[in-house]
Amino acid sequence: MANWDHTTDVLVVGSGGGAMTAALTAKQAGLDVLMIEKTEYYGGSTALSGGGLWIPNNYLLQRDGLDDSLEKARTYLKNTVGDRTPQALQDAYLENAPEMVKYLSSNSHVRFHRSVGYADYYPERPGGTADGRAIEGSPFDGSKLGADFKQLRPMSIKIPAGLAFTASEYNKIGMITSTWAGKWVALKVGVRTFFNMLTGVKLLALGQALVARLRLSLKDEGVPIWLNTPFKELVVEDGAVVGVVAEKDGKPFRIRASKGVILAAGGFDHNQQMREEFQQAPVNHEWSSGSPGNTGDSIQAGMKIGAKIDLMDDAWWGPSTVPPNMPVMFHVGDRSYPGGIMVNAAGKRFTNEAASYVEVVHAMYEKNSVEVPHIPATFIMDSRFRRKYIFGTLFPMQPIPKSYFESGYFKRGDTLEELAQNCGLDPKNLAETVARFNQFARNGRDEDFHRGDSAYDRYYGDPTIKPNPCLAPIEKPPFYAVQMVPGDLGTKGGLAIDEYARVLRADGSPIPNLYAAGNTSASVMGNTYPGAGSTIGPAMTFGYIAAKHIAGGKIRPIGRLP
Ligand SMILES: Cc1cc2nc3c(=O)[nH]c(=O)nc-3n(C[C@H](O)[C@H](O)[C@H](O)COP(=O)(O)OP(=O)(O)OC[C@H]3O[C@@H](n4cnc5c(N)ncnc54)[C@H](O)[C@@H]3O)c2cc1C
Repeated sequence: MANWDHTTDVLVVGSGGGAMTAALTAKQAGLDVLMIEKTEYYGGSTALSGGGLWIPNNYLLQRDGLDDSLEKARTYLKNTVGDRTPQALQDAYLENAPEMVKYLSSNSHVRFHRSVGYADYYPERPGGTADGRAIEGSPFDGSKLGADFKQLRPMSIKIPAGLAFTASEYNKIGMITSTWAGKWVALKVGVRTFFNMLTGVKLLALGQALVARLRLSLKDEGVPIWLNTPFKELVVEDGAVVGVVAEKDGKPFRIRASKGVILAAGGFDHNQQMREEFQQAPVNHEWSSGSPGNTGDSIQAGMKIGAKIDLMDDAWWGPSTVPPNMPVMFHVGDRSYPGGIMVNAAGKRFTNEAASYVEVVHAMYEKNSVEVPHIPATFIMDSRFRRKYIFGTLFPMQPIPKSYFESGYFKRGDTLEELAQNCGLDPKNLAETVARFNQFARNGRDEDFHRGDSAYDRYYGDPTIKPNPCLAPIEKPPFYAVQMVPGDLGTKGGLAIDEYARVLRADGSPIPNLYAAGNTSASVMGNTYPGAGSTIGPAMTFGYIAAKHIAGGKIRPIGRLP
């Protein structure tokens, strides 16, 4: 095949966590690497994210003297993912994830800290832990990126420059009206933001910090990222992938990759056609919080050359709301705060509202029917809830904007009956549901759905509410309601890969020179979300594994840990 416009050893498609980790590892192994990104920004959903990674048996856990092991983590995956994904894939993850974290921590600007107390999502199952296995990218001064700072994918919601908080800080601030720790952390973050504004520190946290740290490391190593360069198709010779056709300056651009192509271009979050073809109705790409460039291009390119696909019907779901003139809102912690419930169209509760986001949306889909729609579901809260807790971007006591009511996003009622009428719910059912829930709240035990029984539920609870930090009566008027739809953080189905991140054909054989990581590949986590960071952890780990395989295992050794 002649007429190549550019030649490299390794071509990496995409610029999120999976792509950046793959590119850095390959380059540090002495390979020539090029990254191409379709949009004008690098970072993808990873830059929009909480930046958490679920890494069992990681060195930070060990340093803190917490009990974890490969065997314990394997038991946990057996009891969560089960045999929905191959054992070899799960083992590859468990063995390489802690190694990848050490690799980056000792060979790059990437630094992590533990998300202390962020329990596994099923901590009571065998192998689970309430201490949690999540780590996150440590805050970082974005001004170190120089001109590249401007091309970092911005957060979906504009926040003042210098304002940044870690996931643990955010969780504490959520309790600002209840706990001294909440007030103290809010004060600390406020003072820090003021200091950053005065000194010009562009403090980044969460996914933005992780991506910025990776970007600076790639810059130091001289890895180019070509923005506005969409990947279009794979070039195959004698059954092996030898390069790609991309688009550069509006024209086809042929890139030869002599050692391998790594597809790490996210999922099909914003491809409505693919979502309707593979997923259950109702599904709407506008409910996805995933990065706008994620339209399944690399999955389709893989399918075109005979790659096997899996898990296409699933996603990293989460109950979401659609505020007026704002990006879709993914609700993580606020569903657990005491004094709110979710009900179906009949006005009845149907799940543990404080369960993990994926779990709640699975319940919405499983129970949805023409007779009793569960999509959208309705979240009900009382005035005490509004006064005390964050909901979406609304701070405690912050007046609800008029536009929320005018657009129909928020509904209000002076009585539960009035609220039910305004939401089209059966008033009698809603009254019964709330009365039953209030009794559970007084007794501290949710007999229907066990809300607050798990350490995971309680992570987002209010510790001052006894005996159950996730339960409080809904009784203080006026009452409010918001509709919740099945949103997501991205899709999780894609190209099937083996334990070396090689893309597989339908017969299980690998396609030579083709690798995939992140949401382009079918997730090792099957239909579950075992713990915070279950998508970025695997994305970066399989990016690392792919690069390691291309380099024949000869990657830079792990050095001194910070
Ligand atoms: C608000 C939010 C919070 C989240 N929090 C967490 C969290 O804390 N922990 C966690 O584990 N997960 C979290 N997630 C999910 C997680 O961010 C994603 O699942 C993960 O980052 C996907 O990584 P990736 O490497 O597969 O792709 P991405 O980071 O999405 O990157 C893919 C990139 O590929 C580019 N691309 C697409 N098509 C092409 C093409 N044809 N050519 C070139 N480039 C292309 C895209 O533009 C994009 O930049 C969160 C997501 C969101 C939206």
